[in-house]
Amino acid sequence: MEASDSAMLKLACHCGSNTHAFSVTLPLDKKYKDIHFCQCTTCRWATGTFAATAIQAPSPPFDPDGNPPATLTVWKSSDIGSRYFCSTCSAQLFFRYSLPELTKDANRGFYLATGVVELPPGETFGVDCVAYIDSVPDGGLASWLSDVKLRGLLRDTLAVDDIVAREREARNLEVPQKLEGTCYCSSVKITLSRPTGRPEELPPYTFSDNTDLVIPNYTPADEQPAVDEKNPWWIREEQKPAAGKRFLGGLCACTSCRKIAGSEVQGWIFVPTVCVELTLPSGETVPWPSRQELVEDPTYNSIIGTYKSTPGDPGVLRGFCKTCGANIFWDGLTRRNLVDLSTGLFSQRGVREEGWIEWWTERVSFVEDAEKRHDIGKRLERGLQEWKTRLGGRV
Ligand SMILES: [Zn+2]
Ligand SMILES: [Zn+2]
Ligand SMILES: [Zn+2]
Ligand SMILES: [Zn+2]
Repeated sequence: MEASDSAMLKLACHCGSNTHAFSVTLPLDKKYKDIHFCQCTTCRWATGTFAATAIQAPSPPFDPDGNPPATLTVWKSSDIGSRYFCSTCSAQLFFRYSLPELTKDANRGFYLATGVVELPPGETFGVDCVAYIDSVPDGGLASWLSDVKLRGLLRDTLAVDDIVAREREARNLEVPQKLEGTCYCSSVKITLSRPTGRPEELPPYTFSDNTDLVIPNYTPADEQPAVDEKNPWWIREEQKPAAGKRFLGGLCACTSCRKIAGSEVQGWIFVPTVCVELTLPSGETVPWPSRQELVEDPTYNSIIGTYKSTPGDPGVLRGFCKTCGANIFWDGLTRRNLVDLSTGLFSQRGVREEGWIEWWTERVSFVEDAEKRHDIGKRLERGLQEWKTRLGGRV
């Protein structure tokens, strides 16, 4: 292959409303394939994930001085940056710095959300670094992906020992009485209360099949265990005596989550809807709405956009903040009164809230989906196991 061979970097959101192709030369420069993980508060709250994953754009996807394509919603997330997400499926697509020193570059200050990017054939993603670990006092995703460059902010280097020390400190934080969640623009505010063994938290009132996180989807049907009616997989043991039962949380690397979050990994918490309250912009607090209300009632659908990510009825319904684009929920198929909520929303204190959430360490959900793109899912699985060992087996 000649050094001057040209190829395309293709970008497409989940619903296909937004597609772009960027001309690049091979071999592909690292800045177009080594992923920058950002754990800053804006990235966490504006995506709903643990970290946004980005690469530099080879060229601007559109003229930043003109109007962006009508298929995009723009969210000016700070004085110096804007985010662009698909108005239909909510996929995060672009981030742009408006700083003069960056906008004069050939790419006009644009970065691409890697989750929606396909590299030229034969190329795979690597990791540049995990940045803004200072925004997450317990290390966040970096605790599980520590074999890469670790940055406190953008340039200063951290060692694995620094992360371990932070984890220890964060473990001593007082556990909040209620778990509060928010998207970056604050249009969507969610409050969780503890599961206490009420019938509404258990089958048959609340039900879901096994989750791929715990029992891989490829497990033959006759080898899938039945969901335990008294101790279903979504209710977990307390972390400290008398702290209360917890929810299950985990990472997903499935193609749909990736192409909707724009991030290589999405985090979910599995919660019975009876434990969820929504605070509307008016200040009124209401129980978590039904699927039908979320789709049809203007009280909710003026704030939370919905998207059917799997064809079929009832299908999978996902929800996002219409203003800032944050992933909010996943609700699917055989579900009854159980919803997956985006973990990034619940990182107000910047920590994984282990007093409320048991993080699953045995698997990254649908890790097989990402195998041809990168080995990040497998590295996270190793990192989760090492983290569990570090904690003496009690996560
Ligand atoms: Zn889309
Ligand atoms: Zn960030
Ligand atoms: Zn928002
Ligand atoms: Zn997924």
